[in-house]
Amino acid sequence: MEEKFENIVVGAGFAGLVCSGYLARGGQKTLLLEKGPVVGGRAAAHSFNGYNVVMHLPLIMTTVNNGGGYGWANAAKDFGANIRYHSSREPRLYFKGLKKTFMTIPKCLTTDAATDWMIEFLAKARPDLVKDNLKQELRPLVHEILTKPFNEMCREWDQVSVKEWVEARSSNPSIKYLFTSLWAGCAWTGDANFTWERGSMGKGAVMFRIWIGGQGLMSVAIPDVQKGICEPIANAITGNFGCEIRTSQNVSEVLIKNGKTIGVAIKHKGKSDEIIKARRVILATTWLDYFNLFKIMPASLADTLRLPMNQKMGGVFLITGLNDSIPLDGAFFLAYDPKTGSSVQGGCAQNIEQPWNVPAGKQLVWSYSIRSEEEFNRLGLEGITAEMNENFEEIYPGFKKAIEFQTPPKGAIHPSHYEFSSLHKIGQKSPDVEGLYFCGEATWPMYGQITDGTASTGVSVAKMILGLDNPLGGI
Ligand SMILES: Cc1cc2nc3c(=O)[nH]c(=O)nc-3n(C[C@H](O)[C@H](O)[C@H](O)COP(=O)(O)OP(=O)(O)OC[C@H]3O[C@@H](n4cnc5c(N)ncnc54)[C@H](O)[C@@H]3O)c2cc1C
Repeated sequence: MEEKFENIVVGAGFAGLVCSGYLARGGQKTLLLEKGPVVGGRAAAHSFNGYNVVMHLPLIMTTVNNGGGYGWANAAKDFGANIRYHSSREPRLYFKGLKKTFMTIPKCLTTDAATDWMIEFLAKARPDLVKDNLKQELRPLVHEILTKPFNEMCREWDQVSVKEWVEARSSNPSIKYLFTSLWAGCAWTGDANFTWERGSMGKGAVMFRIWIGGQGLMSVAIPDVQKGICEPIANAITGNFGCEIRTSQNVSEVLIKNGKTIGVAIKHKGKSDEIIKARRVILATTWLDYFNLFKIMPASLADTLRLPMNQKMGGVFLITGLNDSIPLDGAFFLAYDPKTGSSVQGGCAQNIEQPWNVPAGKQLVWSYSIRSEEEFNRLGLEGITAEMNENFEEIYPGFKKAIEFQTPPKGAIHPSHYEFSSLHKIGQKSPDVEGLYFCGEATWPMYGQITDGTASTGVSVAKMILGLDNPLGGI
């Protein structure tokens, strides 16, 4: 008998898992197809020399629910998934050349508290910029960011640069420095000039609220993101709501007939394509995958994907295994160049809070550095890696001697996800193909481009399909 589903969701990362879970919970016959051997997508763990490396520590989620962050944690609760996590240490900020003067990011519960913390940040990084009346001028800007509803913030400020936003409110150079450097860290754009000119105000504002505004949690999944969160969600949605999940299924085409989705084709080695029929297809893949999934690309999607992605950034990623001769703090960190305000490096030590990820007596740090395209080309992978190790030595004295192994640095120049007009957003409901939907990081609005945000797009699409009230306001 021919199989037919109401919904086929393609891709079992956070977005696809959450979307298919809500659809199945809503009583719809739903199939989730994943090309990898396990669920989790980018949250999958990798093994290096006996170390279990998970690039999602600490996992970030919002704690606000009023029309805003509504990501995986709420979904997991709704699904009855067996998940435990603990809070991670508060993030630390280091300033290059200002030895041992790190500061932590506390949870600031009020506008005054966040404004005071920002001024303390400025006093550490650039005391020359702390002037009288700064608090008076800064406070209304901080208040606006902390009180605007998440979904409005994402819609209205996503395509607004930090420069545009700040200049419409202030011409104070101290405020320019503060927003540039904090957004370089919060929006993961790194480079100060890039952040000022092109960093997305909205994406950085989400992270600002999560980190500095006390509206988020940084947590460590037990034992890791894939086994501790993605697999329990998958078990809950299959066991509790009858969602069907099939892994190692490489969807090769979304089938469209007379302007309507009718299902998908799946490639199997040495066999002819398998066809599975469905009323709706929801793509929860990355935007790059869209290019391969259509025989004839729907016009609206083609129009969006054809738009130029001018702005690029260089990213470097480094994993280091260490012995335990130095004490790592287990916290997420950002390192700044106080002169320019660039966030030159970030990362996290996994040993202390995730001992199950490292062999006894070992420690682990993963780190990234995001550079402008020009700097990436000028320094090359080796030059940036050398700088990263120097920064590590400053942050954790004795680091170099404690190194047991370091993966060859991985890096490339990509269109920046955080640049406001680089990665063009796809609407969640196709305007030209009936029954075709999109969720995940490429869809709009997107809350902060992290697991919590991408999961929220899954919620949004499922609610749209189920015709339920949708506080996230998907489009
Ligand atoms: C280095 C790094 C560090 C990060 N750190 C954090 C962090 O600390 N905290 C945080 O919250 N977030 C973090 N993130 C972001 C987070 O990883 C992503 O937001 C999230 O995992 C994306 O989930 P997704 O479901 O949108 O996409 P994905 O996880 O990419 O899922 C897409 C799925 O689609 C599948 N797929 C693609 N094509 C097909 C096909 N043709 N057929 C079938 N299946 C297909 C893929 O195999 C994949 O499983 C980090 C990301 C990176 C890269």
